[in-house]
Amino acid sequence: MNQVSVELVAPDISRWATGNTGTPFVWRFESGQPGPEVMVQALTHGNEICGAIAMDWLLSRNFRPQKGQLTLAFGNVAAFARWDPNRPAQNRYVDEDFNRIWADQVLFSDKDSVERARGRELLPFVEAADFLLDIHSMHEPCVPMMVCGTGGKGAAKAMAMSEALGIPRYLMFDVGHPAGLRMIERGGFSNPESPKVALLIECGQHWESAAAVIAKEVLLRFLRQTGTLASASVEPYLNPTLSFPERTVIEVTDVVVAKSLDFRFAADYRGLEVIPKKGDPIAFNGDEVVRAPYDQTVLVMPAIAKQWEVGTTMVRLGRFA
Ligand SMILES: [Zn+2]
Repeated sequence: MNQVSVELVAPDISRWATGNTGTPFVWRFESGQPGPEVMVQALTHGNEICGAIAMDWLLSRNFRPQKGQLTLAFGNVAAFARWDPNRPAQNRYVDEDFNRIWADQVLFSDKDSVERARGRELLPFVEAADFLLDIHSMHEPCVPMMVCGTGGKGAAKAMAMSEALGIPRYLMFDVGHPAGLRMIERGGFSNPESPKVALLIECGQHWESAAAVIAKEVLLRFLRQTGTLASASVEPYLNPTLSFPERTVIEVTDVVVAKSLDFRFAADYRGLEVIPKKGDPIAFNGDEVVRAPYDQTVLVMPAIAKQWEVGTTMVRLGRFA
């Protein structure tokens, strides 16, 4: 197993546990002025601590919205409570992936879990949001990427907003996760007729210091873009050198999930490798060979080092759009 060093120090978020909404770890601020309902979530995955660092910083700075309402939520706090820097890959979730439960038939099914219960707590805030930013990071060292939802017009509005942020370089839209609905796909977020927009930022490797820099930068730019925070209050903390004038868009067409615990890649991929020829082998998934679906197939977020189970997303396949 690849060993990635843990550079980041997880913040003590216990001081935010009470929240001010009646829901633990959820804070909501009203400007008293008309404006959008904006929500940011950190810790969708319990070991993706860069978002918690950014949100802890934002809360401690007492930023307040100039218009509309701002909700700041620490998501899977039960998983985060199990964080152990000596075993940093072990607390992604407690019972199941918190970012696969956002369909009604899962949230309200007979089967319950720590994550579904937390999802039902956060649901009113998610449903109310006009703009949502969900802060993540990746297991493999990889450049930051903005996930702009699934394709079509639904992705177009997320892409437009990502373009306006100026960060990161890589924007991606995809086909969702076969294993379940993500928060950014729920309801109006994936409805092209709705003005609601959801973005998911992958800030870099989970525990590299750069991920926390990106998390904070994207968070502030997002809140400025929605008009929630005044430019003047945000700008002293921004780093314009992180902007990319040219963006690269990747259309993800395929999601490869593990069919077997025997899954292995054909080479030591890190992400964004280009497989030149259609039909070239990419991975061995049990007794099936995963092949490039077309020339110039781009590998997105290969899950090399992490432990997986049958159904885990192992890699996404796409092309430069
Ligand atoms: Zn994540």
